Amino acid sequence: MKGSHSGQRSKPRPDGRRREDGEAAIAAGNQSEAGQAGAAQPAHDDAMTADMTAKKAVHEPGTGAGCLGLVATPIGNLGDISMRALDWLRQADLIACEDSRVSGRLLRHFGIEKKLISYHDHNADEVRPVLLRHLAQGARIALISDAGTPLISDPGYKLVREAAAAGIKVTALPGPSAPLMALILSGLPTDRFLFTGFLPVKSAARRQVAAELATVPASLIFFETAPRLADSLADLAAVLGNRPAAVARELTKLYEEVRRGRLGDLSAHYRAAGQPRGEIVLVVGPPEAETAVAFDLDAALREALARMSVKDAAAQVAANSGMKRRQVYARALELAQGGAAAQGGAAQDGTADDGDGLEADGG
Ligand code: SAM
Repeated sequence: MKGSHSGQRSKPRPDGRRREDGEAAIAAGNQSEAGQAGAAQPAHDDAMTADMTAKKAVHEPGTGAGCLGLVATPIGNLGDISMRALDWLRQADLIACEDSRVSGRLLRHFGIEKKLISYHDHNADEVRPVLLRHLAQGARIALISDAGTPLISDPGYKLVREAAAAGIKVTALPGPSAPLMALILSGLPTDRFLFTGFLPVKSAARRQVAAELATVPASLIFFETAPRLADSLADLAAVLGNRPAAVARELTKLYEEVRRGRLGDLSAHYRAAGQPRGEIVLVVGPPEAETAVAFDLDAALREALARMSVKDAAAQVAANSGMKRRQVYARALELAQGGAAAQGGAAQDGTADDGDGLEADGG
């Protein structure tokens, strides 16, 4: 649910310039841009293809065909890179990364000197066909993000989708990922969880997202920034109730910290202590019987349906709860139809509303 409403981070191009085409992107994305002396080479298709042919013998998993490897990199502690990840990066013909300066530093640390191509939210549509063409010609391309597992709140899924559709082998070199590490450290249930990326910046939008998630019987995982942490915790407490939660900060780094408590207490703590430093993942436990979800949709709808039409009941409950009208309407219809069936088919509502009527009404 909502994997991308805030999850796909939008970042400006690192060098502030616009790419004319994908080849230019490759040339400018190599390690000379990242400060690596002597690595500036234009990425001509022919030169690359020849280079790839020479390397085919050592490609793993190798059929001689191109292969896209999704390579996880550390989220702080460089010791977390895997041997397979290093092997893959060393054997890659090309490394697609978000910010060539960030990845250049990582690769230099491990003594890896490769052509880098920037692949981020702002150039993905023009660079993706270039990557696919190289893959089709037999290239082994590693996709990395600035940190952690690529595609998790980072660009990449369209490349995977299109590579797979083109019959290109796609594999992953698994490793660090902040949301999973936060979850397992949280002490909250791990049997079901829902990761929804970054919470919205504005309070009203955050509360709306929280209302949409209020009845999900799972631990919820969000990315959050330090300046917004206390306010977000307060908004979540207001809508979800005072559930248990955990704030996981600076994972794998020197000042790693996991603070566990109720949403309200955590909010009070960060308001009093001031904003913390570093990167943050927020985990919230599933609805509890005793804290009950702040808002019981079915109860509110039943009460409203007893007095008014499905359409009006949905509109009123949506306004009161902050939930999406379309979602509330769908549930109101289900309840009304269930009621009608129980009453031998008599329309409880007497109207023939449908989703279109609601749309026209601005829902
Ligand atoms: N792909 C990455 C992954 O798999 O972890 C996540 C990328 S997302 C764009 C970046 C966000 O992840 C940060 O804003 C922060 O919320 C979280 N994050 C990344 N590294 C972290 C760390 N070491 N400790 C806590 N949170 C971290």
